[in-house]
Amino acid sequence: MSDSTTNRIADRPAILGGKPARANGPPGWPRRDERVDAVLRSLIESGDWGRYHGEHVPALSRQLAEYHSVEQVLLTSSGTAAVELALRGVGVGSDDEVILAGYDFKANFQNVLCLRAIPVLVDVHPQTWQLDPERLAAAVTSRTKAIVASHLHGGAVPIREVRQFAEAHKIALIEDACQNPGAMIHERRAGTWGDVGVLSFGGSKLLTAGRGGAILTSRSDIAERIKRHTQRGNEAYPLSEMQAAVLRPQVEQLDELNERRCVNIVRLCLQLSDMAGLRPLQLPTNELSPAYYKVGFQYRAEEFGGLPRELFVKSLRAEGVAFDTGFRGLHLIHAKRRFRAADDLIEATRADAGMLTLHHPVLLESAEAIDEIALAVRKVRDGAAEILTRVPLG
Ligand SMILES: *Cc1c(COP(=O)(O)O)cnc(C)c1O
Repeated sequence: MSDSTTNRIADRPAILGGKPARANGPPGWPRRDERVDAVLRSLIESGDWGRYHGEHVPALSRQLAEYHSVEQVLLTSSGTAAVELALRGVGVGSDDEVILAGYDFKANFQNVLCLRAIPVLVDVHPQTWQLDPERLAAAVTSRTKAIVASHLHGGAVPIREVRQFAEAHKIALIEDACQNPGAMIHERRAGTWGDVGVLSFGGSKLLTAGRGGAILTSRSDIAERIKRHTQRGNEAYPLSEMQAAVLRPQVEQLDELNERRCVNIVRLCLQLSDMAGLRPLQLPTNELSPAYYKVGFQYRAEEFGGLPRELFVKSLRAEGVAFDTGFRGLHLIHAKRRFRAADDLIEATRADAGMLTLHHPVLLESAEAIDEIALAVRKVRDGAAEILTRVPLG
């Protein structure tokens, strides 16, 4: 093959038969980690993997409490269970109203319904697509019991403002940090701004045990209420010894890995800075050291020759890059009788249609891997017209 032919194949989008920018595809998760291997081996040797009680659950709980500077950490079977328990912990019950963003994790909405309370949806901010504190005043009624603020897609809710609002109105604040454990917002860890914070240890998350979650709080009344619900002579929402054991070394490395992810995101966004159709939701600033999980971008098809978001995702996947669409807008997938919309939710509707996410494992790879992602995006942009005519959607 001549050089020019090789170049043409390298430049051609993989979805049209060119060479994928990342031939090995997206890296798996969790990564192989010798510290996790070692702890698993020791559990096998001691037989402790099968025990109800051991050292790991209390040790992880202490480790997370220290790391976050909170009084109490309750470990749970999932982040979803942790959000439910947090809602119970702040006393949410029948006919209470709970404010959350119209663009949020679906289980947060379902958890509110689970307690026979009413989700009240507020719009997200046009630039960051995170819960917008400006929208809270119009959403509050005498029945408002709590606000659930979720930091999503590497961004951060202006949580200091949300907290001020919640305090002024005597409303509980639940901070969902499932997607950004270890992030620093105004010099304080994500998950420690609310009356209760929540973490997830689900299989795709930055800290993973396949499943699991945690509740962070310094309010003993809330912790006691949650324990009354979960401790029934037996533990109703437990995290196992084996799960806790594999999490401990991950917590130790969290800051270092979050930093590496940040460096790579900054590199990627610098390379994509001429791409008006792919705007990062939030980059690191003096006030924010993000933790990147599914990194969010605002996608604008007009800037990609009219390439629909779904085709962009399909094309990038063919290049070996794990882009995906985001969540559905909560107001668009639930019957109107299930919730109250506090405003027009225009930005949540835009986020539903335009959110693009990049899965995090690649952010621990080399600088070259990051450059390959940028190359893949460029190939797809330049080949958009041909992709549109030749690749069926769906
Ligand atoms: C993952 C996640 C949760 C909890 O998920 P689980 O799989 O139940 O641990 C909650 N909120 C957000 C925003 C999440 O991304």
